[in-house]
Amino acid sequence: MNFKSLKIFSMMSCSHDFAFPRSAPDGSYSQVCRLCGAEYEYDWQEMRRKKRIVDRVVKQEI
Ligand SMILES: [Zn+2]
Repeated sequence: MNFKSLKIFSMMSCSHDFAFPRSAPDGSYSQVCRLCGAEYEYDWQEMRRKKRIVDRVVKQEI
């Protein structure tokens, strides 16, 4: 098992330990898992996470 497949496996099985939501230059918020690096949209008004942001991560990985 190489590093890349190991990382994908950890992303799938990760229980997620999210850091404090951070603001993006466009005014939106996102929250990143400190364990696997998964990034999710964060709705500051509703105080909850939204859908996962995948395109940014995929471009870096492949
Ligand atoms: Zn995670």
